[in-house]
Amino acid sequence: MTGNRHHIVVIGGGFGGLNAVKTLQEHDVDITLVDKRNYHLFWPLLYQTAMAGLSPADIAAPLRSIFKRRENVRVLMAEATDIDPDEQRVRFASGEEVGYDSLIVAAGFRYHYFGNDAWERVALDLQGLDKALAIRRRILAAYERAEQESDPALTAALLTFVIVGAGPTGVELAGSIAEMARHTLKGDFRRIDPAQTKVLLIEAADRVLPAFDPDLSVKAQRSLEKIGVTVLTGAMVQDIAADHVRVARDGATERIATHTVMWAAGVKASPLGELLHRRTTAPIDRGGRVQVAPDLSVPGYPNLYVIGDMAHVEQAGQPLPGLAPVAMQQGKHAAAQILRRIGGEETQAFRYVDRGVMATIGRAAAVADIRGLRLSGFTAWLLWLFVHLMYLVGFRSRLFVFLQWAWSYATFGRSVRLIVGKDEHAPPRAPIEP
Ligand SMILES: Cc1cc2nc3c(=O)[nH]c(=O)nc-3n(C[C@H](O)[C@H](O)[C@H](O)COP(=O)(O)OP(=O)(O)OC[C@H]3O[C@@H](n4cnc5c(N)ncnc54)[C@H](O)[C@@H]3O)c2cc1C
Repeated sequence: MTGNRHHIVVIGGGFGGLNAVKTLQEHDVDITLVDKRNYHLFWPLLYQTAMAGLSPADIAAPLRSIFKRRENVRVLMAEATDIDPDEQRVRFASGEEVGYDSLIVAAGFRYHYFGNDAWERVALDLQGLDKALAIRRRILAAYERAEQESDPALTAALLTFVIVGAGPTGVELAGSIAEMARHTLKGDFRRIDPAQTKVLLIEAADRVLPAFDPDLSVKAQRSLEKIGVTVLTGAMVQDIAADHVRVARDGATERIATHTVMWAAGVKASPLGELLHRRTTAPIDRGGRVQVAPDLSVPGYPNLYVIGDMAHVEQAGQPLPGLAPVAMQQGKHAAAQILRRIGGEETQAFRYVDRGVMATIGRAAAVADIRGLRLSGFTAWLLWLFVHLMYLVGFRSRLFVFLQWAWSYATFGRSVRLIVGKDEHAPPRAPIEP
């Protein structure tokens, strides 16, 4: 870094931030990439780490190693807590700060429990690698505890897994728990039969995958039911506690005994969105996303860009969804606009090129909508495998994930079935019978 070149700070090394830095790194600028984690995480495969199929290192890459050969890229592991757009400074939780000439804010999302803090304490979600490992621990420990349990009601509760929210993440989690129960764990236990596992997928809308074409929702629900998932649509969660979840549906309320509730029902922008709203008066939407100008800058601050899950951008009258390709394209676009401004050119409006959406349901089953071409079953699954392998960062990860998938496909195995760490909300454990 030379110290007198244009200095760009990028907050967040996720899909948006990483693509911004990769676009900028080739140019005569200095870049500081700030992330509270020291790795880039491939969120679309996180559920496979939660479900004991992949190890953390298969789906995450250290940011420092990604930019190892780039002299003009400095990586800082730090949590940004404040931004002063007038002074052009970013402050960190440590109290330290850095100045910038241009700033890209790409700090992503957080799970949204709609103000129910008590639910957040007991439910599990996929907010990062540590949370995925917590899901793995809770599910595998539930089987261990059930094996020791003599009370049939408690055994049934331990073997009941509830997923709230039937978007792609909820569908993927439900499908993989059901498959693990039926295939991978077969023969592992002496007292319980893992095939008795109940997987309930709860969705407030009237169909699973509400953002997909209705035909694909029907196909996805059928595939889920085929592998043993019970789908409850039109169902509203009323309460989540350590030993049950209460659900309202068709005018009645049901109490479901369970020790494992997974939340995949809603996300909200990083709190930095609200902070930027206070600092710049830029409007935010109900999800805390900043309503940016067409070129993705914050209105009135041409050197400050907000992208990815933190940005509210409308196209054809609809807000763009919180998807990896949206964040990636926005990262490249914001970087290109900074370079245009440095070159004295006008900035350009962002346009998202939608290449389609897809979700996997389990072994050899997926749905995909590729620009109106609707695929399901094995073909969609092969496409899903291919796309996810291609977008994984790093050759090592691609190779390892490919080998793991091939192994799991051939053997139904999930090699990472290890219980590590402690769970403060673990279900009670029965004494070992002598
Ligand atoms: C479980 C799950 C599965 C998903 N599956 C898919 C899928 O299959 N396909 C798809 O297209 N999309 C999927 N998504 C959505 C997709 O991952 C997001 O849309 C995308 O990650 C948004 O990119 P981003 O750069 O805005 O944020 P992120 O990729 O989330 O990156 C944000 C980064 O900012 C860092 N950060 C946050 N706050 C701070 C701070 N204060 N200071 C410093 N650093 C900070 C974080 O550590 C993180 O590295 C999934 C999301 C989840 C949660």
